[in-house]
Amino acid sequence: MWRREPIPGARLVCVSSFAAATYSGMLPGTLSGQYPPGKLEIDLRSLAHAARAELVVEPALSVDMESRTVRFEKHEPVPFDVLSVGAGSVPNRAGIDVSAGAWVPIKPMQTFLMRLYERLQELSRRGREELRVLVIGGGVGGMEISLCLPAYLRRVLGETSHAIAIVDAGERIGGGLAPPALRRAEALLAVRGVEVITGNRITRIEDREAVCADGRRIAADLVVLAAGAAPPPLVENMTLPKDLRGFLLTRDTLQSTGSTEVFAVGDSGTLAGAAVPKAGVYAVRQGPVLWRNIGALVRGESLSSYEPQHDFLRLLNTGDGKALMDYKGWSAHARWCWRLKDYLDSRFMARFRVTRG
Ligand SMILES: Cc1cc2nc3c(=O)[nH]c(=O)nc-3n(C[C@H](O)[C@H](O)[C@H](O)COP(=O)(O)OP(=O)(O)OC[C@H]3O[C@@H](n4cnc5c(N)ncnc54)[C@H](O)[C@@H]3O)c2cc1C
Repeated sequence: MWRREPIPGARLVCVSSFAAATYSGMLPGTLSGQYPPGKLEIDLRSLAHAARAELVVEPALSVDMESRTVRFEKHEPVPFDVLSVGAGSVPNRAGIDVSAGAWVPIKPMQTFLMRLYERLQELSRRGREELRVLVIGGGVGGMEISLCLPAYLRRVLGETSHAIAIVDAGERIGGGLAPPALRRAEALLAVRGVEVITGNRITRIEDREAVCADGRRIAADLVVLAAGAAPPPLVENMTLPKDLRGFLLTRDTLQSTGSTEVFAVGDSGTLAGAAVPKAGVYAVRQGPVLWRNIGALVRGESLSSYEPQHDFLRLLNTGDGKALMDYKGWSAHARWCWRLKDYLDSRFMARFRVTRG
């Protein structure tokens, strides 16, 4: 949007830990081999170049609200008049003590495939008859990963047999899915041999075992952490008002409740008084409101309100050429659902493809 209509007299500085942004909607399809690895990446250098924006490729360490600067380890501090924080979320690792390198957190997503590959290589060097995979977190992300991972394991390890289990602290998996879709998802996981352990919390990860809160030990050569959403370190370190989980609290204009100059969007922000799940569809819908409001703030005009939608279409890649759809309590598991998902995801990604001129 900045490319089409830059704000006169304003300088845009974008900050990202990596030169690419990843689209989570395509990660399961990349695991299952439906997409080549690069397909889920957005090239931020080209995008920034096209928008005449500066791009700092380094994690922002902290935000100093007094001097209005963003600080880095190496890059010089970047001053701001208006700041938008969209640093996403990280898997919730609360209370999990990791004594060995068996685990592969899903974030940063930019390095997930590389870390997964390295762990599998390490395991195959050590040799073992059956690979035991544990996915921590039975939300839709954890379910998709469990269903799409087998194809990836076959590509990397050949026909080594594997067993996958999901463990979730809640009484049921599939956070947010309506009952008909959840029943289908559970049946599908059972057919694919994915064991589902609910009502138990992992407290420790050892080299080839995970330990539950009740003392149960689960054999695990590879542990994928896809549990819940917690604030990323940058957000954790910020001194602005937060919700109970530590995300930045915002008004309906997406401005922090503690500063009119700071916006917080996507997973990093929580709209005060609204129960909005941490899902990409909300982040995407906030984009145009954020854009309008940054411009309005700079021009001294009144700001617009963001109104979250009540429901949204969920399409889970089930790794078999089909997707599981959940929409307004209606569900289907079919090839046409996958084609719809592929169409929507590819159309979304096409918006960010720019050729350098
Ligand atoms: C496997 C999986 C599948 C999912 N599928 C769906 C789906 O189908 N539909 C859906 O609606 N939601 C889905 N989600 C949820 C969705 O990914 C998030 O809600 C969405 O990405 C949030 O967007 P965001 O822009 O807030 O954060 P992100 O997309 O996470 O982007 C934040 C960016 O900030 C960068 N960053 C973080 N910290 C810093 C820092 N200190 N300095 C600089 N840069 C930083 C990160 O590297 C990242 O690139 C899925 C999640 C997972 C894990």
